[in-house]
Amino acid sequence: MSSIRQPSRLELTRLTSVAERLSREWHYLSAQEVLSEILNGNAFIKNPALVSSFGADSAVLLHMVSKLDTNAQIVFLDTGFHFSETLSYRDRLTKAFGLTNVRTVSVDPIAVKRLDPQRRLHLSAPDGCCQLRKVSVLDRHLRMNDAWISGQRRTQASTRSSVSVVEVDKARGKLKFNPLAHWSQSDVEAYKARYELPDHPLTTEGYLSIGCSPCTSVVKAGEDVRAGRWRDQPKLECGLHNRPTIIASSEHVA
Ligand code: SF4
Repeated sequence: MSSIRQPSRLELTRLTSVAERLSREWHYLSAQEVLSEILNGNAFIKNPALVSSFGADSAVLLHMVSKLDTNAQIVFLDTGFHFSETLSYRDRLTKAFGLTNVRTVSVDPIAVKRLDPQRRLHLSAPDGCCQLRKVSVLDRHLRMNDAWISGQRRTQASTRSSVSVVEVDKARGKLKFNPLAHWSQSDVEAYKARYELPDHPLTTEGYLSIGCSPCTSVVKAGEDVRAGRWRDQPKLECGLHNRPTIIASSEHVA
């Protein structure tokens, strides 16, 4: 189902070397300074895209990006199962931050007709559903980009404990950046309060991590923020950030 071209060994070696260099050079930079490097003309980064779910904490990175370049490319994957609140939040933040290049990328309707005509694949095979509605959509879109940016943070979940600011996405042959990798939840909340960023409307109802409506539930007190995703299933991640295919660069401590 994947539409990506596997990068050559030579290309991966080059990307790894670039990632190590950037990681060294950016060692003491703040998240905003890292973003500035990514968006404002680092010689190694030509065409980056921020992939945003417009979820519970997305406003932070989107706000930082808007302060640097309102025309930065932002990609929203429309799975066909988003809460209506997420779609309106996307529109609200886009307008509030003056973002002019938010691209909503939808799942291929022919693939849906072939693989999930009843829209029930998430019940029987959630990994296949995420592959169809998220991973393959991102794979297809990122063919046009040499790097991508995500809002992943180490403290979000045990599956993210090794996230680094600079990484190589081996499967896609791209540089991958996580400027907030070392931010805590309190850092996020402090930034939101400082800039009075609007909350996703579902956070007040107890949704602390927000994905597709059939696979997202309210998080109870004391639970991990991602506990409401694929509740009671072994599945923890959608597959966009598949750790075994990521090369993490050396530690970033700013
Ligand atoms: S989160 Fe659920 S509905 Fe959304 S793509 Fe994955 S399995 Fe399908």
